[in-house]
Amino acid sequence: MSAANLSYWEHQSFFGPADVAIIGAGLVGLTAALYLKQRRPGWRVVVLERGALPSGASTKNAGFACFGSISELIEQEKRGDLEAVVAARYAGLARLRELLGDAALDYQPVGGYELFRHEEAALAGECLEKISYFNNLLAAITGHRRTFRDASAEAGRFGFRGVGTLLKNEAEGSLDAGRMMRTLLTRTWAAEVPVLTNCAVAALETAPNGQHLLRLANGATIETSQVLLATNAFATELLPELAIVPGRGQVLVTEPLPDVRLPGTFHYDHGYAYFRQLPDHRILLGGGRNLDFGAEETTEPGLTPTVQHYLENLLHDVILPGQRLRIDYRWSGVMGFGPALAPIVDWVRPGVLAAVRCNGMGVALGAGTGWRAAEKLSAGQRN
Ligand SMILES: Cc1cc2nc3c(=O)[nH]c(=O)nc-3n(C[C@H](O)[C@H](O)[C@H](O)COP(=O)(O)OP(=O)(O)OC[C@H]3O[C@@H](n4cnc5c(N)ncnc54)[C@H](O)[C@@H]3O)c2cc1C
Repeated sequence: MSAANLSYWEHQSFFGPADVAIIGAGLVGLTAALYLKQRRPGWRVVVLERGALPSGASTKNAGFACFGSISELIEQEKRGDLEAVVAARYAGLARLRELLGDAALDYQPVGGYELFRHEEAALAGECLEKISYFNNLLAAITGHRRTFRDASAEAGRFGFRGVGTLLKNEAEGSLDAGRMMRTLLTRTWAAEVPVLTNCAVAALETAPNGQHLLRLANGATIETSQVLLATNAFATELLPELAIVPGRGQVLVTEPLPDVRLPGTFHYDHGYAYFRQLPDHRILLGGGRNLDFGAEETTEPGLTPTVQHYLENLLHDVILPGQRLRIDYRWSGVMGFGPALAPIVDWVRPGVLAAVRCNGMGVALGAGTGWRAAEKLSAGQRN
C-alpha cells in the first residue's frame, strides 16, 4: 500500500487521528485495546501491526497456562519478590480466561509436570524438599492447599526413559494459542478498534504541542494523543533506552501419534524445555535456548542445528524412547527478557506508555499487563 494512494475513506475510517495508537497486536496490545474501550468507549483507538498476522511471541508460543515449575521458582526467588510475580501470573491467566472464555481458548486444566532424569537426583531432591514451602507460599494465590505434589509414582504410565522424579502442579493448564489470538483479533475489531496489519511503525515523533506522529514503513502517518508501545522483544527498535533483551525460542511439532497419551503440560531442565500433546495427538516440543544463549539472543526468526538436534534427541531418547518420528512443523518466536521478572508498564516519554517484557511467560502475564496499560492510558499521564 502506498501512502500517496490512501483514499479519503481510508483516511477517515482507518488512518484518522487517534486518541490512542497501540503499536503491536500481540496478547498485550490487543487486551490493552479491549480493556481501554471498556473504560473509554468513545475514544478512537487503533492497533498497528507489522506482520500480515500478529507476528511476535503470541502466535508462536507453546500454550502453557503456567506460572512456574518448582525448579524455576527456586531460581526466580533469587531475583526478587517471587510471591508478587507468581500472583501476577496466576491473576493474568484468570483475567485472560474471564475475558475470552475457556471455550474460545480451548483451556484445559490438565495439570503440569516437571520431570527429572536419574542423573538429576540432586536437583530433584532439592525440589522435593521445597514442595511444602512453595505450597504454603502459593496457597492463597491458587486456592489449592497442595499446588505441587510428588507424582514420581506416575512416571511409569507416561513411558519416559530415565525419568526418576516427577512433580505435579495441580493448577496448571493448557490452551490453544491460535484460537486465543484469532478470538482476540475478532473481539478487537468488534470493539470498533481497527487492527491494521502490514503497518510497521518506523518512527515515533512528538510535536511541540504534545501530539505524536507515527510514521509507518509504508509511508502512511497516524497522529495520536497517546501511544502504547506493546512490541515486546522488538521494543528497543523504537525506544532503545528500554532494558529488554530478546530471547528466541524454537519449537517443533511431530506427526500425529494416535497411540500416545501424555495428558498434561511437561517441563524439563529448569523449564528450558517443555512439551505437551496437542488435541490432534501430535507432540509439541520446544526450548533449548540455554544451549547457546548468545545465538538465541536475537529478534531474527530462525532454526539452528544445535537446538533442533537437542529437541529431536530429547524426543527420541526421553519422551518417546526409541521412536523415530516425522517432524511436521518447526518454527521460532522471540520473547523479551530483562533484569526484573515483572513486565514494564510505565510511561517512558510524555504520552508514551510501554507495556512490554513478559519474560517468556506472557500467556500468563499478558492480559494483566494489557489491563494495567489500559488503566494508565485511560487516566492519562499525570507527571
Ligand atoms: C517459543 C515460545 C514459547 C512460549 N511459550 C509460552 C508458554 O507456553 N506460556 C507462556 O506463558 N508464555 C509463553 N511464551 C511467551 C509469550 O508468548 C509472550 O510472553 C507473549 O506472547 C508476549 O506478548 P506481547 O503482546 O508482549 O508480545 P508479542 O506477541 O511478541 O507481540 C508484539 C507484536 O509487535 C509487533 N511489532 C514489533 N515491532 C513493530 C513495529 N515497529 N510496528 C508494528 N508492530 C510491531 C510484532 O509483529 C508482534 O506482533 C512463549 C514464547 C515463545 C517465543
